[in-house]
Amino acid sequence: MTDLFTRARGVIPGGVSSPVRAFGSVGGTPVFVAEARGAHVVDVEGRDYVDLVASWGPALLGHAHPEVVAAVQEAAARGLSFGAPTAAEVELAETIRTRVPLAEQVRFVSTGTEATMTAVRLARGATSRDVIVKFAGCYHGHSDALLAAAGSGVATQGLPGSAGVTRAATADTVVVEYNDVAALERVFAESGDRIAAVITEGAPANMGVVPPAAGFNAAIRDLTARHGALMILDEVLTGFRVSPSGWLGLEPGLVPDLVTFGKVVGGGMPLAAIAGRADLMQLLAPVGPVYQAGTLSGNPLATAAGLATLRLADTAVYRTVDTRSAELQSAVADALSRASVPHVVQRAGSLFSVFFRDAPVANYEDAKAQDTAAFGRFFHTMLDHGVALPPSAFEAWFLTAAHDDAAMNRIADALPAAARSAAGA
Ligand code: PMP
Repeated sequence: MTDLFTRARGVIPGGVSSPVRAFGSVGGTPVFVAEARGAHVVDVEGRDYVDLVASWGPALLGHAHPEVVAAVQEAAARGLSFGAPTAAEVELAETIRTRVPLAEQVRFVSTGTEATMTAVRLARGATSRDVIVKFAGCYHGHSDALLAAAGSGVATQGLPGSAGVTRAATADTVVVEYNDVAALERVFAESGDRIAAVITEGAPANMGVVPPAAGFNAAIRDLTARHGALMILDEVLTGFRVSPSGWLGLEPGLVPDLVTFGKVVGGGMPLAAIAGRADLMQLLAPVGPVYQAGTLSGNPLATAAGLATLRLADTAVYRTVDTRSAELQSAVADALSRASVPHVVQRAGSLFSVFFRDAPVANYEDAKAQDTAAFGRFFHTMLDHGVALPPSAFEAWFLTAAHDDAAMNRIADALPAAARSAAGA
């Protein structure tokens, strides 16, 4: 694998198509995957790992579910891309609306980044306002306006979150500390009439898992409604994963204006969506003035994978994922406690992550105050024992419905040694 990584770095920046895959924060050589089935991935040298990455979320059913693969194969035989509307898009949009009633209309795109970028443009178009409020530590893809970093202080004008992002691109992005209602109230008191939307993850899972404090999402809803701003709920990661209707299924009564989907909705193929109230969605081209388009949008292989996945993702699937997640959370906490490793396991539905620190994490500042070196040692010992965790301390761990007893036992067997490594022993 080291040879392949050397070759990869010669022709691909960092050897990877997306940065976190490079093992930058944990060190070592990334696993080059040859194939994946159920709860397992197999590397190019034939080594099998129990997978807790699940393609960063999409593989709710496990990898390469035979019925999903068959649906994609059948679709492929009928043509790879048409650039024309299809019946499968209509069916998928109707399926989404059945699960998430506020998704009255749906526009398909290929990535979560496009979905949130479009939601922001739509919110600005709908309100004729400029400012977008986002929370530090929430990730909404890599469009310029959302790639904004917080300055010091709880609510700051966004600073470019990357080289190549201009100050102008983030000048209308305000970054607020997560779970801080008072800071959000202050921002609305100061510039409520300039705010087009607040965008937030259903439950943040991109700084590790940081569930919204009781009433936090409701406070966002209340403030946006009172000030004529929109609430965009980014369910790219939580959508169709934490319940049949995503985070909204776990927080009934929360009614955002727009919602974005990705990952599970495409069943492992490049597909994402923006959805919401019909009057807002009707502002999108070709009906309305907000432009948005895509050559590969609503791709027939992707819609086939999404439809097959949602058809198979019944309540039994969610129950299994919930159960496996709870089992793993307690097994990890137990192993780390036995090895006296400071830790806190945080969950939001079936999503969870482990922070290597001894106090609860309410926001990004707290998340950054963890022992990432301990996580790195833990990660590598798990990997040596055939368990592939997300290669960063700031990511959720993903279960699938295919994690059977054998897979769970392999994880359980690996945990004591990994916990001792984390302890530095
Ligand atoms: N929003 C959230 C909440 C995400 O977790 C992600 C990806 N991890 C994105 C948006 C961006 O999606 P994509 O990587 O498909 O562009």
